[in-house]
Amino acid sequence: METEAIAASTVQKAASVVGPVILLGPPGAGKGTQAIRISQRFGIPQISTGDLLRDNISRGTELGKQAQEIMERGELVPDELVCRMVASRLTQADCARGFILDGFPRTVKQAEWLDKHLAENHCFENEDGSRRLVVIRFTVEYNQLLQRLTGRRTCPTCGRIYNIHTQPPRLDGICDIDGSVLVTRKDDREDVIIARLKTYESQTLPLVSYYAQRNRLKDIDGAGDVDRVTVEAFKAIEDGNSL
Ligand code: AMP
Repeated sequence: METEAIAASTVQKAASVVGPVILLGPPGAGKGTQAIRISQRFGIPQISTGDLLRDNISRGTELGKQAQEIMERGELVPDELVCRMVASRLTQADCARGFILDGFPRTVKQAEWLDKHLAENHCFENEDGSRRLVVIRFTVEYNQLLQRLTGRRTCPTCGRIYNIHTQPPRLDGICDIDGSVLVTRKDDREDVIIARLKTYESQTLPLVSYYAQRNRLKDIDGAGDVDRVTVEAFKAIEDGNSL
């Protein structure tokens, strides 16, 4: 089934609170692709810290200048800069019913900051004070990640992600949806990809036990059929929110 069909085939629960949903997983695990589908299905925004940082770079902001070289090396932007950026994004009205965090948190410090931030702002509490956080981790084997990342092409206009090996656009290099010329991200070069995967292992993987200890973690096999992954992600969110 196509993305659009999946989104349309299920009833949108537009009135209810959903999440927050955190998408965990290494670069190339499919977080961005699934975030777009989850956003359409549940009507909550996708907050991709990578996209926010790239937007700051293209606008030439102070944050963008600080982040650019770090990102080109495949390392992580300092926690306090990223947390400040996320805090500012969360004040926007579209986050009131919930939101999807794609690529955040990426360190234990960021996860602790997020817990504290949500608690201080009394966000998304159940009646017993517990939080409705749903953390989904997509697992994909290393060689497949490499193939996905080297073949990745993105539409700069609508954000749709393609792969020249596994999910090519109908016309070579052109977005199916809006006709824009597809781009390769600067950090999707093989040497940077390897650095990003190492960064994930050393700094982000500890979050798996952080959220598992808090009974928040749902593991989904991110390899193979994209639509099957989407169905499992929707179910995890619905279970986590008793929708
Ligand atoms: P992504 O688009 O999620 O793959 O992120 C691209 C790059 O942006 C990463 O390799 C990091 O350099 C930076 N970045 C994105 N999210 C974060 C985060 N939560 N903390 C630190 N750096 C980040």
